[in-house]
Amino acid sequence: MESSLAQRDKAIIWHPYTQMQTASDPIGIVKGEGVYLIDESGKKYIDGVSSWWVNIHGHSHPYIAQKVSEQLSTLEHAIFAGFTHKPAVELAEGLLKILPKSQAKIFYSDNGSTAVEVALKMCLQYWANKEQPRLKVLAFNNSYHGDTFGAMAVSARGAFNAAFESLLFEVVYIDTPNAGNIDSLKLQIAERKAELSSFIYEPLVQGSGGMLMYEPQYLDELLACCKENGVFTIADEVMTGFGRTGKLFASDYLNHQPDIVCLSKGLTGGTMALGVTSCSQKIFDAFLSDDKLKTFFHGHSFTANPIACSAALASMDILLRSETFESIARISESHNRFAYKIRAHRKLKDVRQTGTILALEWETDGNSSYFSGLRDTLYSFFLQEGIILRPLGNIIYVLPPYCITNEELEYIYSKIEVALDRF
Ligand SMILES: *Cc1c(COP(=O)(O)O)cnc(C)c1O
Repeated sequence: MESSLAQRDKAIIWHPYTQMQTASDPIGIVKGEGVYLIDESGKKYIDGVSSWWVNIHGHSHPYIAQKVSEQLSTLEHAIFAGFTHKPAVELAEGLLKILPKSQAKIFYSDNGSTAVEVALKMCLQYWANKEQPRLKVLAFNNSYHGDTFGAMAVSARGAFNAAFESLLFEVVYIDTPNAGNIDSLKLQIAERKAELSSFIYEPLVQGSGGMLMYEPQYLDELLACCKENGVFTIADEVMTGFGRTGKLFASDYLNHQPDIVCLSKGLTGGTMALGVTSCSQKIFDAFLSDDKLKTFFHGHSFTANPIACSAALASMDILLRSETFESIARISESHNRFAYKIRAHRKLKDVRQTGTILALEWETDGNSSYFSGLRDTLYSFFLQEGIILRPLGNIIYVLPPYCITNEELEYIYSKIEVALDRF
């Protein structure tokens, strides 16, 4: 008898974010269809977390599949230094049409972490090229910007990067802004401007930090302050981009536009790995020189992979259809109604929502960490009920593909209510 995918996997594969000694068997997925992932035994799961926030239009979307397939038999890949191709050019044109107007150039890489690395290197080298080195980065407490070294360095210090802490470069951390602290935050920026190359932030929603949400109004003030003090602003829209917060980009809720935007996750509709770092003309211009040392020396073997770019182009076509924005609005309203209904539940410490993201924070007796037992209990419960939700510690969140129906949303909410009564 052929052994199951899980058995074959366990013999040879090391999974991300997984303690392999205690992890339960991975579930072998054989098919994706719309909002569902289907396992070896035929069981269907609603992908309530969009497969780590990447899938925005549903799995195995026929339009994306068709575009990728056409591209595969036309040009699968070409070196991107000295050469270019239609998918890369058209995607850059398309992105610049929808990104904040401050953005002028597109740099391709492979994922969210590399998009962040590129952004940090652009800013640090900008100041080096200007011969006024600024070596520090400003970031938020509770931030998450990825798992490569630079991205780890600008993320909050914690369990995920503890083993590397002494190797991470120094970052100036501030709290997310509110009415009470905004003046003191602005003062700190003004005082330290000579050393701050850039400020990196997840606009409106700090994803991995626990779907923590904060007000656009005060972020706008912070961005204005950075601008006044010559500190570049980097909007890490890797999670918030492409409609997730209700507008195309979370930056669209703000009056002040960023100098740099990082994109990945929803960029290809969750089909292929691809990262984008867009920047202003001012940043780009600081690398133009007769001096070869002022070149931006960064690239990856698969930079601007044509198949990934064609998936992104197809995803963007779907995103810009009016039906998609109707769905985003429908999910946002539905989340909002459920949040209102459930918010007084005695087991909930907080309920918050921005666009298609709904987060419920469970009341706990002390142990609220990512590693809490409650997390594992909730995760298994929802799986059993055919729903993929991956709680961040005691925080459950629903972040679905935009094609999810009202019935599927209601099913998830009803199981959340069961869980609230049971655990
Ligand atoms: C997921 C994420 C990243 C890292 O992206 P990867 O593709 O996983 O490397 C960076 N920033 C934010 C805000 C993210 O949510």
